[in-house]
Amino acid sequence: MNNKYENILTGIRPTGNLHLGHYFGATSNWVKLQNEYTTFIEIADVQALTDNFDNPDKVRKNVYELTIDLLSVGIDPKKSTIFIQSKIPEIAELTVFYSNLVTISRLYRNPTIKTEIKQKRELFGNDGESVTYGFLGYPVSQAADITAFNGTLIPVGDDQLPLLEQCREIVRKFNSIYGDTLKEPKELLSKSSRLKGLDGNEKMGKSLGNAIYLCDSEEIINKKITGALTDTKKIGKNDPADPNVCMVYYYHKLVNKDNVETVCNECKKGLRGCVACKKELISAMNKFLEPIREKRKYYEEHPEEVDSILKEGTKKARTQAISVMQQVKKNMKIDYFDE
Ligand code: SF4
Repeated sequence: MNNKYENILTGIRPTGNLHLGHYFGATSNWVKLQNEYTTFIEIADVQALTDNFDNPDKVRKNVYELTIDLLSVGIDPKKSTIFIQSKIPEIAELTVFYSNLVTISRLYRNPTIKTEIKQKRELFGNDGESVTYGFLGYPVSQAADITAFNGTLIPVGDDQLPLLEQCREIVRKFNSIYGDTLKEPKELLSKSSRLKGLDGNEKMGKSLGNAIYLCDSEEIINKKITGALTDTKKIGKNDPADPNVCMVYYYHKLVNKDNVETVCNECKKGLRGCVACKKELISAMNKFLEPIREKRKYYEEHPEEVDSILKEGTKKARTQAISVMQQVKKNMKIDYFDE
């Protein structure tokens, strides 16, 4: 199937390296989608700055790290357009135009924003001190990200659906005032749910120290899996256990699919010890990560190629955004003269 007339727009914030959660929840799907759709992948550095405005070095470094991660998992720059958000000024312009079409109370009612404000309150105590104008407005800037590239299909998890609905509201309002200009995006719901951490935590993250990163070395994988949570009721090597409460089994299901039934049966019958079971997972995980590591090594040794992929992608994305912007300005009657 080829749907090159549909534009996929997806993005990721450059705040750290990709982990297995990103891989199974998003990027492995993007690798498939790029064969069927015209795909734009935004490195959302402006969005990353909403929470990291005081740490520009971190964001800048991660733009390159993230690009290498994307290329390493199989994003093909010939099929996908990878671009840097801040290098497309049309997105910032659209954000300003759209900001007149959204009320402050509607932004506060957005469930995604509500959840994030709650988290900020728990961290900082007072949301008045921590919620910036930029943060509150990020659903508006996300609507600009999507519409600047005529994004019609947006790969999202269900937690991001409210953001997409807000984008559709903006598009409808814009079109009702200025005439049919923007395309309404539809969601492409990702099947995989969020991955649990090695410690059994529902969330996987850097601050929790429970994630496996795609760039982790063999030594790090060894250390992390050795410390993973197992069935705590299993004391002796030959005690039967419950694999469903064990994170080692959880990860076997992801990267050791051919042998997962054996792992499950032997665990339940007390026919395998946790040490051997972890060793098998370490080997399967390293085998899974090896081709990704190899590609990463190549791009780390060829930074000029990464630069050129970003430059070319950003140039191509900008051409698309300029064309959308011309129509937007024409319909808003602010196309005073050609520059
Ligand atoms: Fe987990 Fe394997 Fe131990 Fe069973 S044998 S509890 S699956 S590590």
